[in-house]
Amino acid sequence: MSTTETSTFNARTPIAREDLKDGENLCEYCTAKCCRYYAFPIDTPKKWKDFDYMRWYLLHGKASFFVEDGTWFIMVYADCKHLQADNGCGTYETRPQICREYTTKDCEYDNDSGYDQLFECPEQIEEYAEAILPPKKRSPWVRERAAGLSLPVVSG
Ligand code: SF4
Ligand code: SF4
Repeated sequence: MSTTETSTFNARTPIAREDLKDGENLCEYCTAKCCRYYAFPIDTPKKWKDFDYMRWYLLHGKASFFVEDGTWFIMVYADCKHLQADNGCGTYETRPQICREYTTKDCEYDNDSGYDQLFECPEQIEEYAEAILPPKKRSPWVRERAAGLSLPVVSG
């Protein structure tokens, strides 16, 4: 989760950080990117069951998984309820601590480089799991069907 540095947003044409003039705040040029999602680390998925849970999350949309420096995160796309139409914070004086501690120093304002890995849809997670895990164990029943063995048909 991230925050803003100012309560007075006025999203203008984007500007490069280095072109910011004295007294200006980068947030004034931003669409409040850091107030529109939250993310937190998760255990590294290791088994089919783990990836199947992730697939389930992604089936709901508005979420993705990413990996940074070996750590897996879930990211949920959801605007903060205090975000204003002008991209300002509607509760600046009483905003959560996490928002107070976040600064523009290393924020995502101009971070379009992406992540080490990003999974945005169930199919991507499935493909990744298939690539790194041994084949799924199938039930004997399924194995029998695959081998062309069929149960006898009982007629009355
Ligand atoms: S992403 Fe950076 S520039 Fe944009 S609102 Fe958040 S702290 Fe400000
Ligand atoms: S409380 Fe304010 S600064 Fe924090 S996420 Fe919400 S709109 Fe952004």
